[in-house]
Amino acid sequence: MGLFGGRKTVFVDADILVIGGGMAGCGATYESRYWGRDLKIVCVEKANIERSGAVAQGLYAINCYMGMQWGENQPEDHVRYARNDLMGLVREDLGYDIARHVDGTVHKFEEWGLPMMKDPQTGRYQREGKWQIMIHGESYKPIVAEAARKAATEVYNRIMVTHLLMDQTKPNRVAGAVGFNVRTGDFHVFRAKAVIVAAGGASHIFKPRAVGEGMGRTWYAPWSSGSCYALPIQVGAKMTQMENRIVLTRFKDGYGPVGAYFLHLKTYTQNGLGEEYEKRWYEDTKALVGDYVDHHPVPTCLRNHALLKELAAGRGPIRMVTKEAFQDPHKETVGWENFLGMTIGQAVVWASQNIDPKHVNPELTTSEPYVMGSHATCSGAWASGPEDYAPAEYQWGYNRMMTVDGLFGAGDTIGGTAHKFSSGSFTEGRIAAKAAVKYVMEKGKDQPQVSEKEYRDLEQMIYQPLENYRIGRNEIVAGTVSPSYLLPIHGLQRLEKIMDEYVGGISTNYMTNGMLLNRGLELLAMLKEDMRCMGAEDLHQLQRTWELHHRLLASESVTQHTLFRTETRWPGYYYRGDHMKLDDENWHCFTLSRYDRKTGSWDMEKAPVYHIID
Ligand SMILES: Cc1cc2nc3c(=O)[nH]c(=O)nc-3n(C[C@H](O)[C@H](O)[C@H](O)COP(=O)(O)OP(=O)(O)OC[C@H]3O[C@@H](n4cnc5c(N)ncnc54)[C@H](O)[C@@H]3O)c2cc1C
Repeated sequence: MGLFGGRKTVFVDADILVIGGGMAGCGATYESRYWGRDLKIVCVEKANIERSGAVAQGLYAINCYMGMQWGENQPEDHVRYARNDLMGLVREDLGYDIARHVDGTVHKFEEWGLPMMKDPQTGRYQREGKWQIMIHGESYKPIVAEAARKAATEVYNRIMVTHLLMDQTKPNRVAGAVGFNVRTGDFHVFRAKAVIVAAGGASHIFKPRAVGEGMGRTWYAPWSSGSCYALPIQVGAKMTQMENRIVLTRFKDGYGPVGAYFLHLKTYTQNGLGEEYEKRWYEDTKALVGDYVDHHPVPTCLRNHALLKELAAGRGPIRMVTKEAFQDPHKETVGWENFLGMTIGQAVVWASQNIDPKHVNPELTTSEPYVMGSHATCSGAWASGPEDYAPAEYQWGYNRMMTVDGLFGAGDTIGGTAHKFSSGSFTEGRIAAKAAVKYVMEKGKDQPQVSEKEYRDLEQMIYQPLENYRIGRNEIVAGTVSPSYLLPIHGLQRLEKIMDEYVGGISTNYMTNGMLLNRGLELLAMLKEDMRCMGAEDLHQLQRTWELHHRLLASESVTQHTLFRTETRWPGYYYRGDHMKLDDENWHCFTLSRYDRKTGSWDMEKAPVYHIID
């Protein structure tokens, strides 16, 4: 059978194409139908939307809910909170836009059948913290997916999107996307008038703490392969804050979340000697970041910083004091249920390591860095803001449209807006969809044209790794190492090693500098060169290959941004050893990049931060 033997090309025409059917993608699909009753709305997903995305395994809390109906919080309060946690740098227009609409989204979830925990006294949603409400999360994703399924004209599951297509008549306008079915191998060409990218953030770009047979055990979903960044980067969309990677303090080895423990069970941390240690690092932190250390709540990165300093001082391990809280049978139940509904692996790790949190205080550790735009960091695409709220400089078209015409984004995709989480991502999907429908309607008959040459060239490139393997394996006498091709797992490990050692991963205690970053870029360029020699044994490995391509491009972007920002803005997330202090005078700004795929070069610039809310 030849290279393309037995493989079909499937053409799909859509008014709106949603890439990724996670939280933001489901929100975008649902809302597209609301505003575009007669439009053809297509959602394409590499897994199955029923259980795909970061919330797939179930969550125990919705982390972004204002509670405006009860006067609990106002949208302005959430903007202040996110700005504080991100050391001053957020897109306040975008954050406000999500916060003012997010409650409506959560009410829809309840209407659709999501079991919400209620406070028996007040009848309100049970609060876990100021912004979090507690849910029975196992059914969260199927409920959200059902709404998207009913709204979509078609949902294409098991299609890995590899590239966006551009209009052949207008240089900066999107025209669709291509990808392949990971089960049948069919090549898919989606022609669309507007595209909404909602393809999740990036894990496994830095070497994880769990390696070898445990390498799938990461905090962030291992299947999040940076597509939401790579797809727009490839076509020249501007990105922002890609240096703002996230490092999380979590229970050791299982990455079980600590939020419910701190907020609901009121547990606290100690060093190995049983001492409180955060206050000890106050002066040290103040010398690095000034008054930001006095803000309340203390920014997440600074709490990481204290933990890392305490470990480096030789007083580890850091433990969560659970023994006291777990004496209360109710709290003990909540503590265990929190994991059984969300991170079963943590409960299994504790069982396997003889840790009963009622009798042993479990260890905490910091994760390897991840890149995401919806959690406590804000990496992602630079997007146009809401008409009624964004400063003129942040508006060049439709809400949530990137710097490429017709290309929209939501959730992890969009930069500058941390702390949107699952509910905020769905809400942002809705916001992007409303604007995308308007875009399609206003363009009318002015439709993008797809070039046959472009998608046929891409087809050749996409399937080449299968051919490389088929030919190259004949050169192997014994074992699996080939003189002519590289397997995706080898490429992934090489990428993780480069990022870890040069861009501030766990091996260097998150430390990097200009020299290391420049060397890292050289090594990434060599890996990029070698990517044309990837060999894929089957369709599964072909998917791994394209996930690696996406991770590599996202990594390059992270490295370029980290090099550009010559300060240490978020100690605890990473350190620039050659610029150890926060520098508000020069860097109270966003960093922007634009990749040129023809030359492989990156243009970097600064953009102002506007404080709209007092
Ligand atoms: C461990 C963890 C715990 C969390 N806990 C909470 C919590 O308690 N409460 C809360 O509110 N939020 C929580 N969040 C945050 C929440 O999950 C995210 O904010 C939200 O899922 C982001 O939505 P998204 O649509 O951008 O990404 P996702 O929901 O991850 O969706 C991305 C989708 O794109 C698909 N995709 C990726 N690449 C491609 C491609 N190339 N082609 C086609 N499809 C593709 C993926 O399969 C996936 O379905 C947590 C996140 C993590 C990782």
